[in-house]
Parts: sequence; structure tokens; C-alpha cells
Amino acid sequence: MNFVILDLEWNQSSEENSPKKLNFEIIEIGAIKLNAGKVMISEFSQLIRPQIYMELHKFTSRLIHLQMQELERGRPFPEVVKEFLEWCGEDFIFCTWGPLDLTELQSNMVYYHMPPLAYGPFKFLDVQKLFSLAFEDGKSRRALEYAVDFLGIEKDIPFHRAFSDAYYTGKVLSKITDESILEKYSYDLFTPPQNREEEIHALFDNYAKYISRVFPNKMDAFRDKEVISSKCYLCHRNLKKEIKWFSPNGRNYYCLAHCDKHGFLKGKIRIKKTEDDQVFVVKTTKIISSAEADKIEAQQEHAKEIRKNKRKKNNY
Ligand SMILES: [Zn+2]
Repeated sequence: MNFVILDLEWNQSSEENSPKKLNFEIIEIGAIKLNAGKVMISEFSQLIRPQIYMELHKFTSRLIHLQMQELERGRPFPEVVKEFLEWCGEDFIFCTWGPLDLTELQSNMVYYHMPPLAYGPFKFLDVQKLFSLAFEDGKSRRALEYAVDFLGIEKDIPFHRAFSDAYYTGKVLSKITDESILEKYSYDLFTPPQNREEEIHALFDNYAKYISRVFPNKMDAFRDKEVISSKCYLCHRNLKKEIKWFSPNGRNYYCLAHCDKHGFLKGKIRIKKTEDDQVFVVKTTKIISSAEADKIEAQQEHAKEIRKNKRKKNNY
């Protein structure tokens, strides 16, 4: 299987409240292809002639050193993307620096009435995450140039153009020699599962991930048994919760359960919104230490306090 490392440059409206449907217009696609041995075998680089935003936003021009005159020489987005997808070939996995590029690529494709890359979540490698897992704590997210410096990669072309950033991302990827790191893939969620059959259950070496189908709203999602279950992913038993789902911030939800065989299990739910205002759930479950379990308990106590104080305020 080949690795297709993709990087995009995009432009945005210079007006505060733009009525346009597309927030980020792609103006450049750069990519390199590595074979299974992570040897570079092909490259792709194309400018795209803008159709929506006809002036470069100040961030864009400062960051990527592109002029509108250059972009005028670019080709229309649908033409370039069609060529790009043919260049990708059949047997490959997308790789990007950070989680955004594939989503933006598909937003632009759908804007031009092209089908998205897949009708459902699909796997890709977030090299920014893999860099952190391979060389740092797994949680930090570094700038590409930091990783390049960290690994002593020669900086032979300038940064912040689509092709060069894909090129350096490929170089970083090829420095990751631990094969088990490459199994820590991510899912692109541009098209969430539409029904139960399409839902994702993925098992990693130290956690499990579940991506639910879409629901009309958060309440309906939390009525679903699979969404709120706390199963041990090692022995597949449904565990009784010691702490039910609670949210310390209104965004993420946590729960704590206990497996007699495997110890404490932490559940985390993130609610994701779709473009048409439905919701779906990304749930991860992880076996944790009792010290980490204590932390969750403290968090829940804290969330309770906050709720109590709010209620008091409302009563006055
Ligand atoms: Zn278990």
C-alpha cells in the first residue's frame, strides 16, 4: 500500500460576515506518494484558479507567499481534483499534517457538486499525531517545522506551500520506523455513519473508538443504548458504571466503570455537529489506573458543585 501525503493551501473571505457557502477555498494542492517502503515515487503540485474569493486574505498571503496573479494561472478546482484522484491510484492511505485537510478538500468537492471521497468515515494517518506518539507524549501537537528540526531533516525547500509541506510531512513520516505507530490511524468524519450498519467500532492497542450514526439531536443520541454503554473492549462485557455520564464543560462527557478482570474503564463522549445540524457521537473507552479514576471522580464532584451554584443563583 502506498502513502499519499496531501497538503492544501486555502483562502478565505476578507469580509467579517461573508454570506458565501464555502468558508475556505482551496487554492493549491500539493502531494507526494511514498511506496510501502516509504520511498518517494511521485509528486503532485497544482495551483487552483479562485472562483469565490478574488482577493487573498491577509493571513493567506502572509503565510504562503502567493500572489493573485500567480493563482490566475491556476486551473479550475474540479479539473485539478479529478487529476489528483487519478494520480492517487488505487491502493493507498491518505496522510496529512493535522486533521483538517481531508475535510476541507471534501467541503470544496461538495461545493462543486462532486461526490465526497467516501460515503462514510474513512481511515487516514494524521502525521502530526503520529509524530507526537513516536517522539513526544502523544498529546502535544507541533508545527511541521518543529518536527523537521527535531528530526534533523534538511530544510532544502521553503515552507508553507502545499507541495513543500507535503514533502516535509512525508519526510517526517519516513522517520517513523515503529510499525505499531502507523496502526494508530485516524478517521475522517466529513460524512458520518448514516445508519447502524455503517457505525464504526475500532480497537486500538490501549483504547477503543466508536463512531455513532447521526441523530436529530443530542437528547436522542443519549437515549441510544450503544452510545451510552460502557463495555470493556477487552472482554466485551457490559460494565456497570461507577460514575454515570457527566460533563465538566458542556462539550465532552465522561463516565467511569469497573471491570473485575481489567480494572477501571474511562468513557469519553464528544458530540459532533453535522453541516445540517444533526449530531453524532465519537466515544472512546480506555482502561485506566486507579489514580486516573480518582481524577474523574474529582472532576465529577467539581461539575456537581458548579451545577449546584448555578441552581442557587437561579433561585434568587
Ligand atoms: Zn474486561
